[in-house]
Amino acid sequence: MKNLLLGLSCFALSFNTFAHTSSTDTQAAKMNFAPVHLRLADNIATQSLKVVPGSVAGFNSYPQEKQTMEAAFHLVEQVINSEEFKQRVVNYVDKSGKRSYTNNRGLTNEQVYEYILSGKEMIDGDKTPGEMNFDISRYNKSWSKVIGYTNQGSDNVIHVNGKFYRGFSAADITGNITHEWIHLCGFVHDNAADHDSVPYAVGYIMGDLAKKLVKQGYLD
Ligand SMILES: [Zn+2]
Repeated sequence: MKNLLLGLSCFALSFNTFAHTSSTDTQAAKMNFAPVHLRLADNIATQSLKVVPGSVAGFNSYPQEKQTMEAAFHLVEQVINSEEFKQRVVNYVDKSGKRSYTNNRGLTNEQVYEYILSGKEMIDGDKTPGEMNFDISRYNKSWSKVIGYTNQGSDNVIHVNGKFYRGFSAADITGNITHEWIHLCGFVHDNAADHDSVPYAVGYIMGDLAKKLVKQGYLD
């Protein structure tokens, strides 16, 4: 029961499948950041995080999707280690105008950046510092509106719904994987409208920068 209550943290619930992807883009477009020229992130060392996926299961019949997934892992690693990602995470401004996240576990934006880049999952995170560790398990639920979920605090598996993933680009996947992995690190959100929460906001930042990276070939 505990797992059910705590664990079912989904990326987005919406009334139709198209609304989700487009609302992600809309949310990304709506994000606000303190101006880079204020140099708020300058005192934070740019850290480095290696993306180390464990088992990637359920893709035997979907080799193309597995390839896209692997491309997504590569994008996540490039984005998360970029200066621009650090700037965005540190400079993020919530809808009340404060440079802050909701459900931030008492951490400042700077500390949220450092926490993410430390690679500390709730399960065994201490054993693998500097690594983003997770397993992927693909399932099919055509009637479900859940794109992905984790059993937070029980294991490091990110369950992804093939119904959505089959239509995702590598850049689309980066946002969802990052959102779910941040759950594995212990962050939560209230509901799918909690756009300023760490999982949602940083997931949007990731997806946005991954798209930018794919489009222009580099990040600033
Ligand atoms: Zn979630």
